[in-house]
Amino acid sequence: MGTDSALNSTKPTQRPTQEEDSHNSSTALLSFDNDCSDPSNPSQKRTTTIIFISLLLITCIALSAASAFAFLFFSTTSSSSSSWPAPAQTSSPIETTSRALIKFNHPVVILISSDGFRFGYQFKTPTPNIHRLIAKGTEAVTGLIPVFPTLTFPNHYSIVTGLYPAYHGIINNRFVDPITGEVFTTRSHEPKWWLGEPLWETVANHGLRAAAYFWPGSEVHKGSWNCPEGFCMFYNESVPFEERVDKILSYFDLPSAEIPVFMALYFEDPDHQGHQVGPDDPEITEAVSGIDKMIGRLINGLEKRGVFEDVHIIMVGDHGMVGTCDKKLIFLDDLAHWVKIPAEWVQYYTPALSIRPPPGVSPSSVVGKINEGLQSGKVQNGKHLKVYLKEELPSRLHYSASDRIPPIIGLVEEGFKVEEQRSKHQECGGAHGYDNAFFSMRTIFIGHGPQFARGRKVPSFENVQIYNLVTSILNIKGAPNNGSLSFPGFVLLPTPK
Ligand SMILES: [Zn+2]
Repeated sequence: MGTDSALNSTKPTQRPTQEEDSHNSSTALLSFDNDCSDPSNPSQKRTTTIIFISLLLITCIALSAASAFAFLFFSTTSSSSSSWPAPAQTSSPIETTSRALIKFNHPVVILISSDGFRFGYQFKTPTPNIHRLIAKGTEAVTGLIPVFPTLTFPNHYSIVTGLYPAYHGIINNRFVDPITGEVFTTRSHEPKWWLGEPLWETVANHGLRAAAYFWPGSEVHKGSWNCPEGFCMFYNESVPFEERVDKILSYFDLPSAEIPVFMALYFEDPDHQGHQVGPDDPEITEAVSGIDKMIGRLINGLEKRGVFEDVHIIMVGDHGMVGTCDKKLIFLDDLAHWVKIPAEWVQYYTPALSIRPPPGVSPSSVVGKINEGLQSGKVQNGKHLKVYLKEELPSRLHYSASDRIPPIIGLVEEGFKVEEQRSKHQECGGAHGYDNAFFSMRTIFIGHGPQFARGRKVPSFENVQIYNLVTSILNIKGAPNNGSLSFPGFVLLPTPK
């Protein structure tokens, strides 16, 4: 109690710089010395002296404890950081080189995705297995940043190609090819849609074995990857999570030369629940706990086989989740006074509004009229949507360099949704797909294994960096991509010379 209030009284309203930290701490320690240097007073009676000395001693102890706590508080908070790249601000690992493989003669990576695992879900409920990976591995301390649009297919494919959606071609969960008029859906497996080189293809091109238990794009035949039977599952959401984990574990029972060096593993939860009930419902807590149990099942299985410390486990999500409700709606119908937007023009409503007007209708004049309507004050929630010509979107979104991206893109504020017109069907739930700058869209990154330092925290980074991270762990040359070649050097431990 006493030390808590002493700590609070020294807590500044703004976080001091590191320099100020050490100054504060040394001042506190200095005053402690002055106050306690000469407590005796010979002119008073013996008992009074004892009481006086005792009181001084108690004060000294209290002050010393407060100073120690203040020092600890400042020195721990001063290591936080905000943006990548900032290697100087990462916490320094105790280890300086990667740990040697014990059983394998080649590194192995298991890449796990928990769909819609919003950053922070790991604190909703006890998640001992996820926290075991965090404690003994490397974590993006404020989460992994998804790509825009923060949707499932664009993000999963960015994770495995290192490319932004404009470059890997999966620009949305559903879109129309502007040349052929064909529609891409999550069931489209023709290679023409899926550009870039996913990790399983890179691995196969090097003559190594890969496996995928459900990952968007893994059924697509590309390069040396032909979705081999037994190592590549066709998507079926009814397959229990346990069965998926056990299949991955069974690969470790193969002769060592046949064990895939890269394995992808996908779980639909907690995205599924997040859409229905929003991110704060107890159902999410239950789903998070379920995912933690699957991580535990994987760890136990690897431990039983004596290979847990040899395997690199990378756990990520594809995006976060934010609560939506019926008051946060914007209806395109309300813009009819300025411009009529027929349903045929709209390729995707929400949250990444995507409009392709027919030939002969100028996209820039449509953008001008929509924004005029939205800013008029006469459209419900109009100020929470802004539309752009795709070339004029903020460049940080990297969302223009593809013909597949419709010419007009709308960005809505967090939690808002766009619909064609008013309907009686209104609900509260959760959504994602928003600007990737929203913290609610962030997900998790945890790396565990011989090349990840134990207990290390790194700043947040975009998921396009993961491709280079995996090829670097596997020590194979990757395809060109949007990630930085120097990134793995900031996150992985160097191999001993
Ligand atoms: Zn998703």
